[in-house]
Amino acid sequence: MQVEVKNLSFVYNKKMKSMATNALKNVSLTVDEGDFLGIIGHTGSGKSTLVQHFNGLIKTTAEYGSIKIGEFNLTDKKCDFKSLRAKVGMVFQYPEYQLFAETVYEDVEFGVKNFLSSVTEEERRDLVKQAIELVGLNFEEVKDKSPFELSGGQKRRVAIAGVIVTKPEILVLDEPVAGLDPQGKKDFLRLLKTLHGGFVKTIIIVSHDMNVVSEYCNKVAVFSKGEIIKFGTPKQVFSDSELLYSIGLDLPLTAKLTNALKLKGVIIDTDFTLNDFISKSAIALKKGVE
Ligand code: ADP
Ligand code: MG
Repeated sequence: MQVEVKNLSFVYNKKMKSMATNALKNVSLTVDEGDFLGIIGHTGSGKSTLVQHFNGLIKTTAEYGSIKIGEFNLTDKKCDFKSLRAKVGMVFQYPEYQLFAETVYEDVEFGVKNFLSSVTEEERRDLVKQAIELVGLNFEEVKDKSPFELSGGQKRRVAIAGVIVTKPEILVLDEPVAGLDPQGKKDFLRLLKTLHGGFVKTIIIVSHDMNVVSEYCNKVAVFSKGEIIKFGTPKQVFSDSELLYSIGLDLPLTAKLTNALKLKGVIIDTDFTLNDFISKSAIALKKGVE
């Protein structure tokens, strides 16, 4: 499923003029099936507002633009949001706060009950087991536990299991690694990488962490004050240091090092993933020594 956003605008509190906020202004964006899109931008730039449109959490009408996801026309009053939500999974910031059931099993099962009403009890159990195992937890070990007995990283995995249990084609995560310790973050990103292209076709993440975006994403959208001011590959986006610095964003470490090397006369052409950066800079530095 492709996501196609055209000229989308959104105003919070539009009826109270003095309180109105233009959170999105004429945003257009295409996310192709198979993309791993990173959305970056300062706090308050409109990132969460945009992604909340993707599963109809924020509903809009045609006068504010258009959003199409596969066959779903989200500005159509007849749009089947229930079916859409089974196809577009949404993971909010700190998803562990949304765990509520008495057991891990029931928590994960909720998504199936809610969005896939036609499955049998046996199919439901298989889906729940599959989702729990996919996020790297031992089904037998955790199924009867209270979600609150688990570690922070495990809770987040249960929350993801509750979203992927409906087998969504698109997974949207709003700041998925915020608040995790370095190891938890690494494990979580590895999980996303495993899911992408296999169980989930397309991933969209909102992130403040430029290292994560340069390493995992194939496309990047840069938000500033409700607008997309740049869109492209990480290579295209992170080469434009001036633009990112001008809106108060940082660069990934690999881009900073590339710039520092350039000041020393060492030019390397890298896509800013860690592996590519290391091999390209090793070649360039060796040449310098010879
Ligand atoms: P980001 O996710 O990039 O930090 P948001 O989409 O949350 O940005 O916010 C965009 C703008 O909309 C900000 O000015 C923010 O203050 C405002 N905003 C966000 N949510 C609400 C809300 N529920 N009510 C009113 N204004 C909001
Ligand atoms: Mg946000």
